[in-house]
Amino acid sequence: MKKIYDARDRLDAQMCADYLEDRGVRTHVQGGFLQGAVGEVPPDYRMSVHAIHDRDEALAQELLTEYLAPVPEDARAWRCPRCGETIDAQFDICWNCGATSG
Ligand SMILES: [Zn+2]
Repeated sequence: MKKIYDARDRLDAQMCADYLEDRGVRTHVQGGFLQGAVGEVPPDYRMSVHAIHDRDEALAQELLTEYLAPVPEDARAWRCPRCGETIDAQFDICWNCGATSG
């Protein structure tokens, strides 16, 4: 098992693990089970994402770079020209008024 990523928190670890799993890398999130078990989180407490199979390490590192890359300009949220709502990039139609981004 190879450590791929030191996560900021549980959500970050899970999102990273999901990202890798979706792309064929079997992952193990370490550290999360400690939460709630001892009542107090140690100061150096970290969650980390590991590739279960050592052979996946290179692929996992590559995917991690993608995972951490900033969202490209053209994939950012857009503002509805009709009603002014901010719409997430994955939607082409305003959820508020039905106008399209184009
Ligand atoms: Zn709208």
